[in-house]
Amino acid sequence: MLLSDKFRDECGVVAIHAHPEAEKLAYLGLHALQHRGQESAGIVTSDGERLRQHKAMGLVADIFSHEVLASLRGVLAIGHTRYSTAGDSALLNAQPIMVQSNKGKIAIAHNGNLVNAHAIRAKLEGLGSIFQTNSDTEVLVHLIALSREQTLPDAIADALRRVEGAFSLVMISRDRIFAARDPRGFRPLAMGRIPALTSEKRDTIVFASETCAFDLLGATYERDVKPGELVIVGPEGISSRFYSPSPSQSSCIFEHVYFSRPDSLVFGRSVDQSRDAMGRQLAREAPVDADIVVPVPDSGNTAAIGYAAESGIPFRLALIRNHYIGRTFIEPQQSVRDFGVKLKLNAVRSLLEGKRVILVDDSIVRGTTSKKIVRMIRSAGAKEVHMRISCPPTISPCFYGVDTPSKKELIGANKTIDEIRQYIVSDSLAYLSLEGLKKACADGEKTTYCSACYTGNYPTKIDVEEIQPAAAAP
Ligand code: AMP
Repeated sequence: MLLSDKFRDECGVVAIHAHPEAEKLAYLGLHALQHRGQESAGIVTSDGERLRQHKAMGLVADIFSHEVLASLRGVLAIGHTRYSTAGDSALLNAQPIMVQSNKGKIAIAHNGNLVNAHAIRAKLEGLGSIFQTNSDTEVLVHLIALSREQTLPDAIADALRRVEGAFSLVMISRDRIFAARDPRGFRPLAMGRIPALTSEKRDTIVFASETCAFDLLGATYERDVKPGELVIVGPEGISSRFYSPSPSQSSCIFEHVYFSRPDSLVFGRSVDQSRDAMGRQLAREAPVDADIVVPVPDSGNTAAIGYAAESGIPFRLALIRNHYIGRTFIEPQQSVRDFGVKLKLNAVRSLLEGKRVILVDDSIVRGTTSKKIVRMIRSAGAKEVHMRISCPPTISPCFYGVDTPSKKELIGANKTIDEIRQYIVSDSLAYLSLEGLKKACADGEKTTYCSACYTGNYPTKIDVEEIQPAAAAP
């Protein structure tokens, strides 16, 4: 696996401090974050003395059997679920990453991408460090292990100051949980609390990428870990320090567009509210005379509800999603047209026949799926198909932890809106404006957003060595 594979890291992280069944809580938290990564998952626990780990390829519910969880029994835990391109070395790169440092055993789980990992790695290798994985996260582990600082919190803060880019991370030592966010706050990380059952016991403190995990754990959302903040939960209680001054915040707006679940608070803002507002704003910016509003499930659901409410055009579930898609499928030799999309989606003919349809989705990346879906809607009898997208055209790859292909493959980077319309064969096509998207996500209230995938303006310097050749091409 190449270092460039790190650009495909989409992840969810969770951490539990002080619970008699910390391993089970971490497992449930990961289950709620499964949408953030489906390739591999791992949990590291501490029973106060020893760290134990289990990592494997696959879905959380398949990886962690009763027996595996019993072997992980602990009071502290961290967990990670990851999407990456499949490959032999994928398990090697699964997280958490556990190491022996001179300050004891530690493990780390990271969501995001470091943009200067390549340069740091080259330097450390020059000094004799031996890397075991291709993941940028291992750079952090080495920096912590090599830090001259005396205490683990100081060594972590020292390491965090040396890396650049996107990181929401949780760490575990024998008796502490650490949670940190990069100074720009690219990726989310929330902190919650489960009240103790008796007054002699302490509350359980939990961290998760999204608050939907808290709902399953019975935890209450308390606050976000702040950009540039390192929170430490240990025997002495909760402490916090700002390891770095925070420049203006650039939280990933795509978390609100697509990546997070609508039942989560992300960057302190309800994802459902953002998506509903995107749909309403889209209806104001790009109205069209039609009979029904249809979402591409699940990514277009909430924006379509907003569009329908604002336009007064009825909302109809005219595409049905099959949620039970496994990994291998036997395709007929006489290949069925659009087989892949048909496995996942089917059209409801009785709703579509003779109708003028507004089809709402969150984004067009390569354009291939959208083209097939438009064709599916037409073959089910629709008279017109008007495509509406709840964000601006995606024109630039993400270097901060979202899986976007290189510029070459991004249809928005290479074609005009009318050319894209012709490619997907819709009667009209409109995207939400950047101003409209920012307004829908309440930009400037609790956070300000990174929208580099729509503008090409990256909030950090991008190390050219880090950029895949295809992505670096103009
Ligand atoms: P396409 O038309 O082939 O570009 O595919 C667009 C579909 O991909 C939309 O339904 C999006 O919801 C979905 N999508 C957008 N971004 C991502 C991503 N980073 N990972 C997986 N799916 C995505």
